[in-house]
Amino acid sequence: MNDILPDEAETWEYFEDIVRDWLQSYGYRPIRMPIVEPTPLFKRAIGEVTDIVEKEMYSFVDALNGEQLTLRPEGTASCVRAAIQHNLVASGGPQRLYYYGPMFRHERPQKGRYRQFHQIGVEALGFAGADTDAELIMMCARLWEDLGVDDVALEINSLGVPEERAQHRAALIAYLEQHQDKLDEDARRRLHTNPLRILDTKNPELQAVVEAAPRLVDYLGEASRAHFQTLQVFLKDAGIPHRINHRLVRGLDYYNHTVFEWVTTRLGAQGTICAGGRYDGLVEQLGGKPQPAAGFAIGIERLLLLWQAGGGVAERPVADAYVVHMGEAAGRLAFRAAEALREHGFAAILHCGGGSFKSQMKKADGSGASVAVVIGEDEAKAGEVGLKPLRGPGAQQRVALAALTEAMAGLLYGDDDEGVE
Ligand code: ATP
Ligand code: MG
Repeated sequence: MNDILPDEAETWEYFEDIVRDWLQSYGYRPIRMPIVEPTPLFKRAIGEVTDIVEKEMYSFVDALNGEQLTLRPEGTASCVRAAIQHNLVASGGPQRLYYYGPMFRHERPQKGRYRQFHQIGVEALGFAGADTDAELIMMCARLWEDLGVDDVALEINSLGVPEERAQHRAALIAYLEQHQDKLDEDARRRLHTNPLRILDTKNPELQAVVEAAPRLVDYLGEASRAHFQTLQVFLKDAGIPHRINHRLVRGLDYYNHTVFEWVTTRLGAQGTICAGGRYDGLVEQLGGKPQPAAGFAIGIERLLLLWQAGGGVAERPVADAYVVHMGEAAGRLAFRAAEALREHGFAAILHCGGGSFKSQMKKADGSGASVAVVIGEDEAKAGEVGLKPLRGPGAQQRVALAALTEAMAGLLYGDDDEGVE
């Protein structure tokens, strides 16, 4: 779990602004769920035989009432729970929702893999069509473009419907049983509980076996094939290249039909920056009236790493003014000057803690502010302030306190400009 220090946190906020605009431009609305949920929610939603539920959840007993609780490892389960609990889809029709925040998984920390990490989750609840799947994928492509990230590739697959998966599962188990000797411990354990998951093993020694395993796509019925086909037509229309990865099955149990991942080779083993798909069965599984749904989650840390690796830099927010002052009366006037600036929409840093004019001016310079507002004893007596441009040319000028904001606007935006936007 990491501290995100100011330099980095500013990058996060810059990024979050872009993300908010992006989500809004697709009509998605925010939802905020609690960080802690009852453990059974995740077991039911994600599946008992998954990495997350088997070994990654931070679970604990509430000392006050003995309830089993878990720090959320992902957001879909909570989002769907909230939608059911508050009748969102039933009363408001299909919902385009997003959330943003920390998730917790007890993993071995490494670059791009942390125990507290952050996700943007996007969920389209109550939408059944491949058009929604396509829109979700197109949204991602748009965000990569907005951020100038171009090192990502799209992989898609179809998991069909449960009956088709059951047939494939039987064939897969039969095949893997023939190759028992080549399986690792994890795979052997999952052979009869969750064989599909063996397909996305990261163990290099298993690659040859899983490569030759029966493919789900060969078990899809007509409707599933049509759904997958329609998605691909939309993607082609949108000019989004993609590769069908027959082994893409996703780590969570709740998916059906479309699954997808955006992957990069620039981040080593932690190459998946976004993953998602359709999960039509989940709402019912969590006790709601059956509703189709689809969504995805983006790993923020990985996306930021990738963005920065490609030269992305955030604009650092700087104040418009830094107010320096000397003497008691000046100190009091300084407060009024700083507040007057803020009232008119300027960002102002008021020097606190005393010190010589020289050292205060050094701080003003270091702050990145555009203008130093200088108040000495003379100025204080006259009810005036000095304005000294810190970036670029321009002599120091002195104006009455009442004329400060107008003079600031003149310095920052040129003299013809009236005030601040
Ligand atoms: P991985 O295969 O890398 O473990 P996952 O399939 O467990 O990923 P999801 O549950 O699909 O991941 O989560 C969606 C995204 O969240 C991932 O693609 C990744 O970008 C990010 N993510 C998942 N786990 C972590 C983590 N421990 N640290 C940082 N980011 C993570
Ligand atoms: Mg994982």
